[in-house]
Amino acid sequence: IVELHGVGKSFRSADGHSRPVLEQVDFHLREGEIVALLGQSGSGKSTMLRIMAGLVPADRGQVRYRGQPMSGPARGISMVFQSFALFPWLTVRQNVELGLEARGVPRAEREAKAEAAIALIGLSGFEGALPRELSGGMRQRVGIARALVTEPEVLLMDEAFSALDVLTGERLREDILDLWDSGQMPTQAMLVVSHNIEEAVMMADRVLIFASDPGRIRCQLSVQLPRPRDPDSADVRALIDE
Ligand code: ATP
Ligand code: MG
Repeated sequence: IVELHGVGKSFRSADGHSRPVLEQVDFHLREGEIVALLGQSGSGKSTMLRIMAGLVPADRGQVRYRGQPMSGPARGISMVFQSFALFPWLTVRQNVELGLEARGVPRAEREAKAEAAIALIGLSGFEGALPRELSGGMRQRVGIARALVTEPEVLLMDEAFSALDVLTGERLREDILDLWDSGQMPTQAMLVVSHNIEEAVMMADRVLIFASDPGRIRCQLSVQLPRPRDPDSADVRALIDE
C-alpha cells in the first residue's frame, strides 16, 4: 500500500552540519500485513513513520501511496503516538472526533463514527471523560480510537505501548491483535515501531531492523515470521536470540 523508494532525510544538527538520518530506504508495506520496525534510539524510526504519514517530506527518493506519489498527509493513513498526543481540555469523544472535524464530516455522522471507534477499542461509557480522568492504557485507547475513526487503510504506531506499564501494554496489544485477526480493524496494513523485540515478534508478520552508525542506516533485515503467533515456538526463540 505504501512504498518507499530510495528515501533519504537529513537534519541540521546543533553544530550546523547536515546529518543523514535515513539513507536509501526501500520498503513496501503490503496489504494484509503487520510489519514491526526495530532499531536503536536515533536510528530514524519515527522519522520514517512521519515521512510515511506525510507529516514530514523526504529529502530524497519517493513515497507512494496506492501507487501515487505522496505530497502531504494522506487521508487513508493514521498515526498513533507514544505520548498519546491528546488534548487535555477535550473529552474522549471530542478528542476522537477531531480526526473527522478537519474533513468536514457532518456532526451526526461524526458522533456515530466516534462512538463506534470508542466502542471498538473498549472505552464505551467514557465518552464524556477528560484524559486526566483516565489511566495511561485508557488514554492510549483514546489515541487509537482517534486514529481509527477515519477508517484508515494504514495504521502507523510509534512505540504506542512503551509509555504503558508492561501488563497494560500487553493487554492493549492483544486487544489490537484480536481486532486485527478477527477482521474488525478498518485497517489493511500496520507498521509498528518498537524497542522490544518480543513485542515486535508477537505482533508482526515481518520484522524490519534498522541498524545504524549514528544517523546512518547500515542494513535493513526483513524476516518473515511464522504464524500462528506463538512466543514459545522454536523459530521465534531463535529469531529473538539472533
Ligand atoms: P527513538 O527510538 O529514540 O524514538 P528514532 O529511531 O525514532 O529514535 P528519530 O526520532 O527518527 O529516531 O530521530 C533520528 C535522528 O534525527 C535523531 O538523531 C534526532 O535527534 C534527529 N531528528 C529527528 N527529528 C528532528 C528534527 N525535527 N530536527 C532535527 N533533528 C531531528
Ligand atoms: Mg522514535
